[in-house]
Amino acid sequence: MSPAAKALLEEASGVVCTQAKLDPKSSFAIDDMQARPSLPVQSPEAQAGAERAQRLLPVTKDLVVKSLRQLTTEYGFQKSSKFQTRVQQAIRRVNSVKRVKPDMESRDNASVFLSRPHVITFGTIFLAGLRSDEAMISVLAHELMHIADGENDSLRPLVAAVGNRASDLTGLDIHGQRGEEITCDLVGAMAARAYIADTPGYESIARRLARSIQHNCVDIDEGDEDHLSPRSTIRALLALNPVLVRELINDREERPAR
Ligand SMILES: [Zn+2]
Repeated sequence: MSPAAKALLEEASGVVCTQAKLDPKSSFAIDDMQARPSLPVQSPEAQAGAERAQRLLPVTKDLVVKSLRQLTTEYGFQKSSKFQTRVQQAIRRVNSVKRVKPDMESRDNASVFLSRPHVITFGTIFLAGLRSDEAMISVLAHELMHIADGENDSLRPLVAAVGNRASDLTGLDIHGQRGEEITCDLVGAMAARAYIADTPGYESIARRLARSIQHNCVDIDEGDEDHLSPRSTIRALLALNPVLVRELINDREERPAR
């Protein structure tokens, strides 16, 4: 990346995490959520989150399908009939997801057990900490993208291409499982952006866009073998998505999201 592009990326990242402090509907940061006591499924915050997630599941499925098709084209796989067959199967898996299951033990995580691919298991702390539709769509889309990839990593060529591009742009090591996680995050950000374009309102565009990634605005910035650290995740996501960078900085939509 050029020094100018890097400077824009840092500026956009600053917008995301400044909004985390100003926006009454901002998401709690992952490290903040990790420090909280477990939250019973019956608590009002968890119930409100579970209702939000279940209500947004159908629209998020549509947005994931569109984002997946867009990425397939953007990364040059649209002419591969073998890959197109895999995309069709992936879309069927996404469309078969029926339910969000709130779970106290899962705390600040959401996950899919690929043996039970119709259900997204969602920790109650996470359900309560994502306080906007934009944030919820982003995380739901992330999980749906894992389901799209499926048990056999059938979208591996696309996932590897996204990971390689993210590695080249940031100099970070984003291969293997990290490539899958950043691809899921990218689909999450794309789905939220498309939702914002589809549901105009009076709120600031930058504020709404920031919600889709700001759970990564942590103080304690730790990653592991499978995941980039949260702040590196923001950097990689923005590097992959220059339109999002400009929209966060300029606080306006640049062109229709699709
Ligand atoms: Zn994941």
